[in-house]
Amino acid sequence: MEVVFTSEHEELRQTVRRFMQAQSTEQTVRRLMETDSGYDARTWERMASELSLIGLAAPEKFGGAGYTAIELGIVMEEMGRELFCGPYLSTAVLATSALLRCADDAAKSRLLPAIASGKTIATVAIAEENGRYDIGAIAMRAARDGAKWRLDGVKNYVLDGHCADVVLVAARTDRGVGLFEVEGKAANFSRASLPTLDLTRKLARLTFNGTPATLISGDSDATAALNHVVAVGSAMLAVEQVGGAQRCLEMSVDYAKTRLQFGRPIGSFQAIKHKCADMLVETEFARSAAYHAIFCAAGDDENELQMASHMARSYCSEAYFRATADNIQIHGGMGFTWEHPAHLYFKRARASSILFGDPIEHRQELGALLAL
Ligand SMILES: Cc1cc2nc3c(=O)[nH]c(=O)nc-3n(C[C@H](O)[C@H](O)[C@H](O)COP(=O)(O)OP(=O)(O)OC[C@H]3O[C@@H](n4cnc5c(N)ncnc54)[C@H](O)[C@@H]3O)c2cc1C
Repeated sequence: MEVVFTSEHEELRQTVRRFMQAQSTEQTVRRLMETDSGYDARTWERMASELSLIGLAAPEKFGGAGYTAIELGIVMEEMGRELFCGPYLSTAVLATSALLRCADDAAKSRLLPAIASGKTIATVAIAEENGRYDIGAIAMRAARDGAKWRLDGVKNYVLDGHCADVVLVAARTDRGVGLFEVEGKAANFSRASLPTLDLTRKLARLTFNGTPATLISGDSDATAALNHVVAVGSAMLAVEQVGGAQRCLEMSVDYAKTRLQFGRPIGSFQAIKHKCADMLVETEFARSAAYHAIFCAAGDDENELQMASHMARSYCSEAYFRATADNIQIHGGMGFTWEHPAHLYFKRARASSILFGDPIEHRQELGALLAL
């Protein structure tokens, strides 16, 4: 897989960077993380109408911009730099890719244009009590009710589940795992926001109690399709982690150049210099793994995507976490305080490292793919 960005990709990166730097300032992030919704509706609307970012990877015939996972990855990386608060990973990545992979054209026509226009927030609910994204272990049952279906059970740690207008739910039928559409306002459906370490990303617990649902994945087993969706989500999260790690590296290097102790910049002391150098090395390795994964997500070799996404998540999660921890250390006592942004990145890194599986789980999956 050749990883080459074009000049158009660089233009997109610069456009999104400018937008994020203006709209996802530290002040805005701190304001939004204290709100119930967790995002700014006006910014979301502008991302849809002015930049076409929400439907970036949806085909034009379904209201999207017709781009690929590569462009989506560029946006995710820029969002990671600025700790963007909003339902992008859930709506533009997971739900969009689930619809593209699982739904028939009627469901795509009904849901994708509303998503791309920014009017519909959507998410995918896979994990249950143990928080794992193991499609084979899904226990939630779906039962037929005439032409419709009813769902019973619980979905946990659902990204933006507290505010989604549409929830795409993976549940088990007699034919295997299916994907079901549930309206946010459906009867017999309740949701509760979860207290999270990372206040910049919202998770919810959803309870279904005979909740009416529509089967959108046809009658066949959707396991392979949902594994693809999780792999795409993992690749996108990995590249978001790279954006965050790069930002921490920049913060650390800037500070190490300007903070004087004993009459010298602290960056001239070996202990700090080596930390910055290690951070650079790990961020670059992480970048290579994540870029490989997003290019695989834009390709059509499923096995290569699975390998690449597990590799990327196992490496990027650890690299990001170490970058955020060292960033705090390099900033001395100030880096430890609530007022400094270092802890926001640290918490984002810690929480992201267990979303869609922790590094150990990803290495185990890699081992299984290698038949070990
Ligand atoms: C929870 C907490 C409570 C505190 N309470 C008090 C208090 O009650 N009273 C008080 O006066 N202060 C207090 N402090 C401040 C504390 O004393 C300083 O944070 C500490 O001495 C470090 O200084 P600094 O923050 O200026 O970091 P800096 O000295 O700027 O250090 C920044 C980074 O550079 C590294 N570094 C600095 N010099 C060298 C060197 N020569 N060689 C190698 N590496 C170096 C440091 O290890 C660190 O990683 C508190 C700090 C914390 C976190």
